[in-house]
Amino acid sequence: MTDCLFCKIIKKEIPSEILFQDETITVFKDINPAAPVHLLVIPNKHIPSVRGMDESDEIILGKLFSGAKAAAEKMGIAETGYRLIINNGPDAHQEISHIHMHLLGGGNMMHPMG
Ligand code: 5GP
Ligand code: ZN
Repeated sequence: MTDCLFCKIIKKEIPSEILFQDETITVFKDINPAAPVHLLVIPNKHIPSVRGMDESDEIILGKLFSGAKAAAEKMGIAETGYRLIINNGPDAHQEISHIHMHLLGGGNMMHPMG
């Protein structure tokens, strides 16, 4: 997708703080952090949302979890804990139509969610 912000970040057409990138996923810092650690873990393939995925994307999306796990270790929050959030659609305030997993941590978070 040529007009997708996150596709441009993946291709480094827009600057961002990329922590990790391989052939399948990219991990970078959220520009407007909602927690001391706030990363976005995204597939390099343009998949708009969970609704927009198909079965052939299951392996790619599974790798988001491996990427989040490694990033949490790297950021030193694996033991203290973190939240993984994927907003989908208007009620969840999904603003960027390229599926992304928020990794939030580095401090105690609000409970319950909602
Ligand atoms: P959503 O609300 O779609 O789940 O989350 C989109 C996230 O992308 C937000 O947390 C927002 O701060 C982040 N974001 C939006 N534009 C940019 C950008 O240009 N660079 C980076 N690094 N993050 C962005
Ligand atoms: Zn995209």
